Amino acid sequence: MNSFEFQRPANAAAAITAAAQAKTAQQGADVRFIAGGTTLMDLMKLSVETPARLLDINRLPLDKIENTPDGGLKIGATVRNSDLANHARVQREYSVLSQAILAGASAQLRNMATTAGNLLQRTRCMYFRDTAMACNKREPGTGCPAITGSNRTLAVLGTSDQCIATNPSDMCVAMAALEATIHIEGPKGSRAIAFGDFHLLPGTTPHRETVLEPGDLVTHVTLPPPKEGSRQVYLKLRDRASYEFALSSAAVVLVLTGQTISYVHIALGGVGTKPWRSPEAEAVLTGKAANATNFRQAAEAALRNAKPQSENKFKIELAKRCLAHALQTAANG
Ligand SMILES: Cc1cc2nc3c(=O)[nH]c(=O)nc-3n(C[C@H](O)[C@H](O)[C@H](O)COP(=O)(O)OP(=O)(O)OC[C@H]3O[C@@H](n4cnc5c(N)ncnc54)[C@H](O)[C@@H]3O)c2cc1C
Ligand code: SF4
Repeated sequence: MNSFEFQRPANAAAAITAAAQAKTAQQGADVRFIAGGTTLMDLMKLSVETPARLLDINRLPLDKIENTPDGGLKIGATVRNSDLANHARVQREYSVLSQAILAGASAQLRNMATTAGNLLQRTRCMYFRDTAMACNKREPGTGCPAITGSNRTLAVLGTSDQCIATNPSDMCVAMAALEATIHIEGPKGSRAIAFGDFHLLPGTTPHRETVLEPGDLVTHVTLPPPKEGSRQVYLKLRDRASYEFALSSAAVVLVLTGQTISYVHIALGGVGTKPWRSPEAEAVLTGKAANATNFRQAAEAALRNAKPQSENKFKIELAKRCLAHALQTAANG
């Protein structure tokens, strides 16, 4: 690991001013915020990330979970994943989020990992994590060995000819389905970003993973008021039962009026280059009967544009079954 300077800014303004001196945006930048450190320190040990200065944000007052005036929830950037998953209102009214977080990592990691850090965790693509290999995401223009190499766990949705890396987060899949909003303070002031607009597709710039600019500090995430009467399910399929990233996952928020689906939000994990909301599947189901035929049709629609690589074609059928099963589980109550 290269040497670095470690600082504890006294307040958010000082943290933003210091981070704004970075040459690039947060991911890959030479001046970095550090929260739980479970992504960043990992990548520094591998020399994938080599920041010169770390700004510890753990003392900033960003660790609260609070009700919002409109009946939603405000989640501070440094709220630990375990505290969020076990929060009474989250368990009761946003249970898909609790389920998703508890399906990830391990208890020890969840005790350290934070809301903002989870939003910004980086891909587990093995070439990205090995500095002996080329990788467009790590070093733009060097190539993508995964396309002709080991790609079993990589993405089938949202890929480009420059990068096919999967977004690994479970929490983000639930937040996509819940239509969270991400709040940022930066050198130019504050702004709020709809969850679906926060992560970027790889396109020709796979090194740019989010809309963050140098100095941008994620301060909190808000959830809209919970959907009354909703049934919520997060289903995660993986190579082993715990301590493993998703091959495929589905977050479902479903409201039934009688046997008719009056509201449904769907997002997929493990298959997309970003947390993958599926308006196509939602359109198939809205106003239809909650039955296996319609659930399968929704799953077909969600994966219609999937593009398999040499080793991961199986993921397309896996993702369809994962979504159909999650929908059926939600409908069964
Ligand atoms: C062995 C292992 C297994 C795992 N398994 C899973 C899994 O199954 N599912 C899953 O979803 N995740 C899994 N994870 C990933 C884990 O969830 C993330 O490492 C964690 O959420 C990152 O949070 P952190 O606070 O530690 O982030 P950090 O490492 O502190 O930061 C991560 C990134 O976010 C930036 N950052 C942090 N806070 C802010 C902020 N407020 N504003 C702007 N930028 C910020 C940092 O600069 C850095 O770029 C696993 C991790 C490990 C090591
Ligand atoms: S898939 Fe993306 S992260 Fe993996 S090697 Fe290719 S460019 Fe790098």
